[in-house]
Amino acid sequence: MKLTHIEHIGIAVNSLDEAIPYYEEILGLKCYAIEEVKDQKVKTAFFKVGDTKIELLESTDPEGPIGKFVEKRGQGIHHLAFAVDGIENALKEAEEKGIRLIDKQPRRGAEGLDIGFLHPKSTFGVLTEFCEDRK
Ligand code: ZN
Repeated sequence: MKLTHIEHIGIAVNSLDEAIPYYEEILGLKCYAIEEVKDQKVKTAFFKVGDTKIELLESTDPEGPIGKFVEKRGQGIHHLAFAVDGIENALKEAEEKGIRLIDKQPRRGAEGLDIGFLHPKSTFGVLTEFCEDRK
């Protein structure tokens, strides 16, 4: 497979409204998009740092994946996302090599990217996302 860069780092927060000022006023980044991803039960806020983005994730439902994560582990880094050329093949290759997948097929994530997750049990504790921009 071919990973090209770290596309984004996903960070779970209790509240976008509370967290965004830290990124803007202390770190000097600019929030350029806020988007709700309904099927993931999250609201996301994006910042750019070079080629990499920071994706803040606020749960819209305590039963959603981010709601459960925050309940169990608190706020903090939730996942690491690599940009990949050819996401179907990358997922297939990982599976063939014994990695447990959360998504066997890519699905549509925030910003219109095609995304797929590898299970943290197979990746030394890091929820790992592949994403590809095919717009
Ligand atoms: Zn992500």
